[in-house]
Amino acid sequence: MPDICIVGAGPVGSAHALALARGGVDVVALDARTRGATLRGDRTLALSHGSRLVLERLRVWSDLVSAPGAVTPIERIDVSQARGFGSTALSASDAGVPALGYVVSYVALQAALDAALERQGVDVRYGTQADRIDATAERARVQGGGEPIDAALAVVADGTGTAVPGIERIRHDYGQVAVIGRVAVDGGHGGLAYERFTPDGPIALLPDGDHYAFVWTLAPARAQAMLALSDQDFADALGASFGRRRRVAGRVSGRRSFPLVLEFARPPVAARTVAIGNASQTLHPVAGQGFNVGLRDAHELSRIAVDTPADGLGSGAMLARYVAARRADRWAGIAFTHGLVHVFASDLPALGWPRGAGLALLDAVPPLRRAFTRAMLFGV
Ligand SMILES: Cc1cc2nc3c(=O)[nH]c(=O)nc-3n(C[C@H](O)[C@H](O)[C@H](O)COP(=O)(O)OP(=O)(O)OC[C@H]3O[C@@H](n4cnc5c(N)ncnc54)[C@H](O)[C@@H]3O)c2cc1C
Repeated sequence: MPDICIVGAGPVGSAHALALARGGVDVVALDARTRGATLRGDRTLALSHGSRLVLERLRVWSDLVSAPGAVTPIERIDVSQARGFGSTALSASDAGVPALGYVVSYVALQAALDAALERQGVDVRYGTQADRIDATAERARVQGGGEPIDAALAVVADGTGTAVPGIERIRHDYGQVAVIGRVAVDGGHGGLAYERFTPDGPIALLPDGDHYAFVWTLAPARAQAMLALSDQDFADALGASFGRRRRVAGRVSGRRSFPLVLEFARPPVAARTVAIGNASQTLHPVAGQGFNVGLRDAHELSRIAVDTPADGLGSGAMLARYVAARRADRWAGIAFTHGLVHVFASDLPALGWPRGAGLALLDAVPPLRRAFTRAMLFGV
């Protein structure tokens, strides 16, 4: 019987499996996808500086940066709101780090993790879908795709959360979708990212290779209308949302949409089972926090597991230690993204002034801006 069975070897589950294997824990991981493929296609992820440090420790970062164009550093972020005053610029030098974050493709990150798992000799069973996890006081049993697997602890990292008795999920539908894609810009991006809050919803422009990746949050009907526009008309609409702040040229590609929900497990643990990554909290993509919070789950859980004697793995005491260690950062990620969406998405005139004042305050008070930037980079 392995010590730990991980359900889902996406970016979070893979990072966790690697860290456990390097720490001498006997681990098996299952994933419904075939090796080298992803179930939901590509997307652009903004990794924080803290995530880079974790990937360096896992010896995945060097592979990722050696692939041409796979990683684009973010040197500054311009934060502003349409139809209101107040803006601020966060910079790497403010935070004392080489870059505020790094834009990578989900597929490139997964490929680097898959290669590292293979080098490490981790038992990853691709093409294996888990249907159910049952637990007794002694072991967790993962069912689906052949023989059940018993382990001292089951880690659910499947992005959505396979049914686990004892883990309740709270779901809030934002009634919005994210339209994502790529757009070329005149004159290059110079490592400058944008977060723009508009009455329709937030828009992120992330420097990615020689173009920008965009994540535009919209009401479903408006998103449908935007997806139906020609590339040129879409680029014009995107440019209009930025006003004079950023000139957006034509050449839009790869437009598609994702529904947006907030979903979180309360609590993320049950008997001999723990949920991490998106299976523990699925966040709105505003401010690009989801994977970063999930990677911190994976890192902390592996640290605790490596530190726990074999007969204590999966015990109530070990899971309580994990919950306590992750409580503040996890709730901060949920509250921060949910709060940003509500404060900036609201059309209430009463909120326009405090919003602008908040941005102006961040801009005018460097220690406050540094504290805010460090929380974005490393979590709470
Ligand atoms: C539009 C958009 C933009 C985003 N931008 C950012 C960003 O800029 N920065 C950021 O940090 N985050 C971002 N995110 C969030 C980020 O994509 C997720 O937080 C991250 O992918 C979570 O990783 P994960 O490994 O937990 O889950 P997933 O990436 O969903 O991986 C889950 C894995 O489990 C496997 N699986 C699923 N079900 C089963 C099963 N039953 N049995 C076995 N295997 C299974 C899947 O094949 C997959 O490999 C964004 C999300 C969206 C939608």
